[in-house]
Amino acid sequence: MARQLIAGNWKMNGLSSQLSFFDDLVNAVGDSPAELLICPPATLIERCSRAADGSGIAIGAQDCHVSASGAHTGDLSVAMLADAGARFVILGHSERRADHGETSAEVKAKAEAVLAGGLTSIICVGETLEQREQGNAETVVTEQLLASLPENAGDRCEIAYEPVWAIGTGRTASSADIVAMHGALKAALPAGVSARILYGGSVKPQNAEEILGLDNVDGALVGGASLNPVDFAGIIKNTRC
Ligand code: PEP
Repeated sequence: MARQLIAGNWKMNGLSSQLSFFDDLVNAVGDSPAELLICPPATLIERCSRAADGSGIAIGAQDCHVSASGAHTGDLSVAMLADAGARFVILGHSERRADHGETSAEVKAKAEAVLAGGLTSIICVGETLEQREQGNAETVVTEQLLASLPENAGDRCEIAYEPVWAIGTGRTASSADIVAMHGALKAALPAGVSARILYGGSVKPQNAEEILGLDNVDGALVGGASLNPVDFAGIIKNTRC
């Protein structure tokens, strides 16, 4: 059984005045068998890396540019993120697919850049409510996965299944739907790819035990509840390995 990864996605939240988060989280969690990750906004990656030093909590980014350097105003390369202390990069979050029109082909190219830069990507996939209601969820999400995965991902690529309709809404997929989707995603992974499959979408302390106890759930990607160390700790405490 893979060690579970509990990742927090702070999105466009967080200021340097909030770095006591890391001490508060460590105090609230105590010992945990899980691997822990916080992905703050890029402005805080370096300071979070310093604040988390020695805690075992890794720091990640929420996006990257596909190129190593060049004339791309406002963008950040993988090398820059690594230099600031990032070890993971979230890619293809549904908010970026919706707000920035990111396609799976672009996500794949970014994931190749992440691999080349020595970091690990967390590739997000998920269906809209309409796609689920039409019975197309597994097809859509599996296709998204295969179109977004880099070549030779090996063990440096994780997947987050995040139904778009469950993100930030308080709604979660049913346990049966999560198990079925994670099973389909695991079965679709090319040979040699050992990606963990995280669930994301309104994970909170109250539902973490059930979700993290499901077959093929290798962790969680947490948005809103990762902003509060007590809530995030309440999720982490439910990891099973
Ligand atoms: C997310 O944005 O990745 C997410 C899962 O958000 P939330 O937990 O707030 O639904």
